[in-house]
Amino acid sequence: MTKSSVLGYPRIGADREWKKALEAFWSGKLQENELHARLQEIRLDHLRKQQTKGIDLIPVNDFSYYDHILDTAVMFGIVPKRFAYNGGAVPLSTYYGIARGTKDAAASEMTKWFNTNYHYIVPELNDASPILTENKPLIAYLEAKEKIGIEGKPVIVGPLTFLKLSKGYDASETDAWLDQLLPLYTQVLQELADAGVQWVQIDEPVLVTKLNDADLQRLNKIYTAFASAAPGLNILLQTYFESVENYNEIISLPVQGIGLDFVHGLEGNLQSVQTNGFPADKVLGAGIIDGRGIWRASLQDKLTLLQTLTSLVTPERLIVQSSCSLLHVPVTTAREAKLAAELKDALAFADEKLDEIVILTQAIRSTDADITAKIKDAEQKLQALQSSGDRNRKAVQEAVASIRVQEPNRLRPFAERHAAQQEKWQLPLFPTTTIGSFPQSTEVRKARQQWRKNELSNEQYASFIRDQIDSWINIQEEIGIDVLVHGEFERTDMVEFFGEKLAGFAFTQYGWVQSYGSRCVKPPVIFGDVEFVGEMTVEETKYAQSKTNRPVKGMLTGPITIMNWSFVRDDIERETIAYQLAYALRQEVEALEQAGIGMIQVDEPAVREGLPLKENKQANYLDWAVKAFRITTCTVQETTQIHTHMCYCEFHDMIDSIEAMDADVISIETSRSHGELIHSFEENTYELGIGLGVYDIHSPRVPSVEEMSNMIDRALRVLDPKLFWINPDCGLKTRGQEETVASLKNMVDATRIARAKY
Ligand code: GLN
Ligand code: ZN
Repeated sequence: MTKSSVLGYPRIGADREWKKALEAFWSGKLQENELHARLQEIRLDHLRKQQTKGIDLIPVNDFSYYDHILDTAVMFGIVPKRFAYNGGAVPLSTYYGIARGTKDAAASEMTKWFNTNYHYIVPELNDASPILTENKPLIAYLEAKEKIGIEGKPVIVGPLTFLKLSKGYDASETDAWLDQLLPLYTQVLQELADAGVQWVQIDEPVLVTKLNDADLQRLNKIYTAFASAAPGLNILLQTYFESVENYNEIISLPVQGIGLDFVHGLEGNLQSVQTNGFPADKVLGAGIIDGRGIWRASLQDKLTLLQTLTSLVTPERLIVQSSCSLLHVPVTTAREAKLAAELKDALAFADEKLDEIVILTQAIRSTDADITAKIKDAEQKLQALQSSGDRNRKAVQEAVASIRVQEPNRLRPFAERHAAQQEKWQLPLFPTTTIGSFPQSTEVRKARQQWRKNELSNEQYASFIRDQIDSWINIQEEIGIDVLVHGEFERTDMVEFFGEKLAGFAFTQYGWVQSYGSRCVKPPVIFGDVEFVGEMTVEETKYAQSKTNRPVKGMLTGPITIMNWSFVRDDIERETIAYQLAYALRQEVEALEQAGIGMIQVDEPAVREGLPLKENKQANYLDWAVKAFRITTCTVQETTQIHTHMCYCEFHDMIDSIEAMDADVISIETSRSHGELIHSFEENTYELGIGLGVYDIHSPRVPSVEEMSNMIDRALRVLDPKLFWINPDCGLKTRGQEETVASLKNMVDATRIARAKY
């Protein structure tokens, strides 16, 4: 019989109970035994929920005290030396030390989990001597069996993926590391088999990336070893986030099941299955419910897809499942009380996805009238949103249709603009500026809260913001900065602020997802056509400009960043959503220009985050991302100076695309790239205005004049002095006033030295 399954369930809890428990423990408000008890309650509750909903293969060991990659490292005793670990069980304090740092030892690095917004802790192999400290999947399996009586499906990160995500070793040592890990993995699996486990899910998401011959050999070696070590165990080799490369090699592995993503890798995977067939002795885990998107599925379309698949595998060999772990979506829509009915009805978070999986599984098993009705109901709910006014803003649709076929070019090429802008602005050599935000002091946050609670009137709040602007315009003038900003005191978040002012956005009350550790984010939902409804930033910017003779830069978040930090609709292409956002933001750019603002910064820190996993899809994404930026900024006069800003330092391989954005000035974070960024300008020329951040804003430390002078000198070895700007790495909203003022003074002193030298 066809079975239903999920690949993992969110840890955080419907009310972020998990986050709260962790943070209470860290702050000493919860004892360790209380934490264990609290987390067990949450864990069992999640299992019961899946059981009640009717999921056949319920994942266990997907739960974590922080992150599942860290769990895997710790299970194998891979603990960096600096945490003074001497083998044996890893204490909880060490576990959290690796994740968050201690007073003596820095935390391990964390990085993005493939192309999601989840971040994992990077294992440091270095000189570790792997041992099995505990069989965590087994513990989870036994707990589920004893406490709730379910036959759980342990989830394990596969060895190839684990090695590829780890650092602290040379590629030539890969096989040696594999040889150390493999016996530990097989021991885990043997113990699971001995305990009576039927299915185990081994996650190998790296199989969606291109593997070389050596990796393919390793893959073979791993799964051959597993098959002979635990012959009674059914292994489901699980992939997700894209279609697999090397389909034929993968289906030939000695495992009992293969899990494929038929949402994010639909085209490639379906083609592979249809052209090459699927082995008759294996089970197909068909990931057809989107584990990353928040929308209800068209059950009719999904059923059609499943029927296509059952022509290739028998129904007994089919598992209906989520495309990936549900970790990436919020818990439930049930408590959302403020969304319009047609929107709420079209959403499906984790719990609603469980229902969808079960309905589809039942639909394959039988043609019950009840199930047919549920499928029809889903179609009606989707249709209701589809035909709503929000998804049918004709003016926007027509404008975007015509804009996307035009060339979004500035009136003149950069060289001519540059000359005209120099003449207009008369800026000194190495103009100084900042990235936008100034410290969001407790005073600022308090005022905002009071205003939200109606304890401050709109006018009182606006006047408070004006006072902040006054004070920071003065500070900037006194320090001697050339291009000023208003400070962004009215904004909490660079996406939410714009989302609240544009049509087509909605905000959930509880739509949290884990980003890293206990940190959760609640992305806005772009559910309709995006439309400009009125000026968003003009008032504050204009006010700031009225207080000074120096230029004030207007400050906007770019279309790609807004899109990549939101949940977006899935009925139209991301490219089209990006253009709708670009068209809306262009109207704000034009409004700022009309109001006399002659420099406008459009921040795009999140371009990199949308980069597709498959190399052959990346160029196309970058093309339309660049185009969206150009649509936003191309209609201004030649003397209006367009700035942009990017951070997170991984831009060294994207310089050509960044240049193609054609911004008059870009500021880029430099410190955390360890010189790689500067390096890449040796190999590529960059011929527009550019400011490489001269100091790290992530720490309260005040950098010395000398340090910044060194940074400037290094940058000027590869960049044209006539195009060089001087600025910090990023916005200063998380910093204190005192250190900010001191750092900026040093920055201006370093600039004076540079001006005298060059
Ligand atoms: N203008 C924004 C700020 O200064 C940019 C933030 C960012 O790059 N993440 O806060
Ligand atoms: Zn930044």
